[in-house]
Amino acid sequence: MTVAVILTRKGRDVVTTTPDSLMSDVCNLLETKGIGAVVISHGGEKVDGIFSERDFVRAIARQGASALERPVRDYMTQNVVTCEPDDKIAEVMQRMTQGKFRHMPVVENGRLAGIISIGDVVKHRIAEAEAEAMAMREYITA
Ligand code: AMP
Repeated sequence: MTVAVILTRKGRDVVTTTPDSLMSDVCNLLETKGIGAVVISHGGEKVDGIFSERDFVRAIARQGASALERPVRDYMTQNVVTCEPDDKIAEVMQRMTQGKFRHMPVVENGRLAGIISIGDVVKHRIAEAEAEAMAMREYITA
């Protein structure tokens, strides 16, 4: 199974914001959209960085409330690991586990084409396991 299967179910919309957005605005964005990470992009197509709630905790712990007045570029992760729609879900899960992050932007032909979270991946793996168990039960009882 590939990342494209997850995108078909959840859609390709990605919440982005620019590197010069204020941390206070980014914090509001995460809260109003109910998401754990936002892709940082100048024009909405190229991935310039990613900023997650973990980065927010780190910023506040190190600099206190003054971090809220700084641009998000000061706290975002710049070396973003991305995947492509044709990548296998199991491989993406492994990369997330190894890299200790829970979000991965999907890029297609150099353009942002979606985002998947560890929650999306786990949901998919559970559905797969349930379908296998059901098929096994039907096979045994038939
Ligand atoms: P998360 O688990 O997604 O909240 O992120 C944990 C840390 O990894 C934060 O510093 C994020 O900025 C960073 N991060 C999140 N996603 C990625 C990614 N796809 N590539 C590289 N770093 C990431």
